[in-house]
Amino acid sequence: MSRERFDELRGRLAEIADLVKTVALLGWDQQVMMPPRGAEIRAEQLATVGRIAHEKFISPEIGKLIDDLRGWGEEQDYDSLEASLVRVAARDWEKASKVPPDLRAEISRSAALANPVWVEARKNNDFDSFLPVLRKNLDLRKRYIDCFEIEDEPYDIVLDDYERGMRTKEVRRIFDYLKEHQSPLVKEVAAQGENGPREHEFPIEQQKVFELEVAHAFGFTDDAWRLDPTVHPFASGTGITDIRITTRYFTDHLGGLFGTMHEFGHGLYERQIDPALDRTPLARGVSLGMHESQSRMWENLVGRSLPFWRHFFPRLQALYPDTLGGYDVDRWYREVNVVEPSLIRVEADEATYNLHIILRFELEQAMLADEFPLEQLPDEWNSRMWDYLGITVPDDTQGVLQDVHWSGGSIGYFPTYALGNLISAQIWERVVADLPDLYDSFEQGEFAPLRDWLRENLHRLGRKYTPGETLERVVGTSQIDPEPYVRYLREKLAAIYGIPATVA
Ligand code: MG
Repeated sequence: MSRERFDELRGRLAEIADLVKTVALLGWDQQVMMPPRGAEIRAEQLATVGRIAHEKFISPEIGKLIDDLRGWGEEQDYDSLEASLVRVAARDWEKASKVPPDLRAEISRSAALANPVWVEARKNNDFDSFLPVLRKNLDLRKRYIDCFEIEDEPYDIVLDDYERGMRTKEVRRIFDYLKEHQSPLVKEVAAQGENGPREHEFPIEQQKVFELEVAHAFGFTDDAWRLDPTVHPFASGTGITDIRITTRYFTDHLGGLFGTMHEFGHGLYERQIDPALDRTPLARGVSLGMHESQSRMWENLVGRSLPFWRHFFPRLQALYPDTLGGYDVDRWYREVNVVEPSLIRVEADEATYNLHIILRFELEQAMLADEFPLEQLPDEWNSRMWDYLGITVPDDTQGVLQDVHWSGGSIGYFPTYALGNLISAQIWERVVADLPDLYDSFEQGEFAPLRDWLRENLHRLGRKYTPGETLERVVGTSQIDPEPYVRYLREKLAAIYGIPATVA
């Protein structure tokens, strides 16, 4: 009997998974293929399919199935698909069914309406015009939080949406460590003096050739992946065998290449999930932090490493003989690892990036707690930019208006970016210990050992376990530890900038 009930639950969840992936496909098409005038009708289509998926999921029938199966699920082997599916579906259902559909609809409507207002406000450096929609989004987010029982801090509720089980006080502890140990690194590097000028010309045609060569070496295959240009790069797809990544191109630097490697990391995580989990809610990365650990790993720990460039630099130089004629690999390696405090998060280097996140994490909590009138937000932003990065913000376009997240009502999302960096270094220490020839393989242009290690130890698990359980399986502890990242940064910057490799 229970087996039949389980099959019924699984069948219903498979239909919902199909709808969710249809939303993803509509979204991919919107960003990559759709002519601009399709925007209005697309918003309706996205809302309709998304609403149907949500209604199907929070239906009393699914609630009843989950209730009936709870005990049976606990009797199954904890690692089995059956036990994991019941466990995860029950947790998802409990959280999703606490939010009234009206509130959910109002949140997405408000986000959709706020986006064009934010685009205009950013373009015109006009925070005042953004203020009313920000206020509305914030009020809705508070109402959302009110749907749940707060055990500790209100921010826990929104953080949990992106990083299940993570607590605000835990993030604060981690970020305090970074403020104490990562900020001084940035100042030590700054004290070394100016970085040289880096004005280059990189025509796009060669970039497209080069990034595909890199992607194919990493594991991108034409039968299961796509790479397309877009305005804001992202990774998406409709399943384990249909992975779609996007990128963009600049002509004066190779930021687009690093973006492609980043999105490849996201795509590979989804590509290497156990196929048995497809069409279930377990067939995706376990959390945004873990996902970001994979994108940052391929972008930085691989793509900004010296062994990687020992292999690929001659090819890049051959594609750009004029621009890179005077370079050797060491100069190029130094250049792609330049540390420089900057205004824009998405362009920040490995050493300053987390500081941008800490600023947003602190402001989000302050906004939820009404610690200052919202009119003051630009000033609060600017003074923290000075405290953490030592730079003056010239206008709100390059300051408080730079990110899309608050226009979409996303609060609690930002910390996962920094947590991803930290997790990537934690995992990396394990990878390097298990694969002593890893860097030699990179120098040979060989990335299968890393790819296979990640599949075996992390990717195949999908969302069967909590983020903490997953991390524990990969690195031996469920705690996110900031030390390996700071250690990695210090060693790397010691070699490049001649700062001390250890602190007394
Ligand atoms: Mg990412």
